[in-house]
Amino acid sequence: MRKYLIIGVQGSGKGTQSALLAKGYELVHINVGDIFRWHVQQHTKLGALVRRTMAAGELIGDDHVEKVVRDRLDQHDWNYGFIIDGFPRNRRQAEFFLESYDIDGVIHLNLPDEEVRRRVLARRLCPGCGMDYNLIYDRPAEEGVCDVCGHELVRRADDTEEALAERLRIYHEKTNPILDLLRRKEYVFTVDASRSVDAVQAAIREKLGLPAR
Ligand code: AMP
Repeated sequence: MRKYLIIGVQGSGKGTQSALLAKGYELVHINVGDIFRWHVQQHTKLGALVRRTMAAGELIGDDHVEKVVRDRLDQHDWNYGFIIDGFPRNRRQAEFFLESYDIDGVIHLNLPDEEVRRRVLARRLCPGCGMDYNLIYDRPAEEGVCDVCGHELVRRADDTEEALAERLRIYHEKTNPILDLLRRKEYVFTVDASRSVDAVQAAIREKLGLPAR
């Protein structure tokens, strides 16, 4: 059983790296932001609150976050383990998690703010089929149009300059300090996230001492 958290600023590649790790080692990939986006799409009661909070780049209340994480883990479909992406984002969430679950490691993806801005502002999403693009290294063949389904590409509502500035501010103020808390427990493995996807994945596997696959 392998249980990991992955922490990093927006655009550091948490989603991509978690998905690769999950695929390689049969882990369940739990993306807390995606669970919230699902609530928005399904127009659940929580969805309306989440939509407003997310669009402003702010964090959802801890009670909602803890419930979402607990409900997801209570499904117990993680026979080989899990990787949680986008959580914890502040001290209270970290304390809640450590009181209730044990973990084998925290992957910290380190990326300077300038590079975050460059990457995030270049992100595009297809609202038709969900395909992700990046205008720097993963452009669609025809500008502004999805290669797969032909739909017009959009920005995520929280990938604007203003929302990004707010998310970076919150990350430095609230999320960075919890790394110190986790470091004291010797859980944290910091990886330089400015390299290629494959190089970052190889570094993560090496630091976690995972067997080659
Ligand atoms: P992400 O896709 O991880 O950037 O998450 C998108 C948005 O979902 C964030 O800007 C928050 O509004 C919300 N969110 C995701 N994870 C958390 C969390 N652990 N705590 C609070 N809000 C969260």
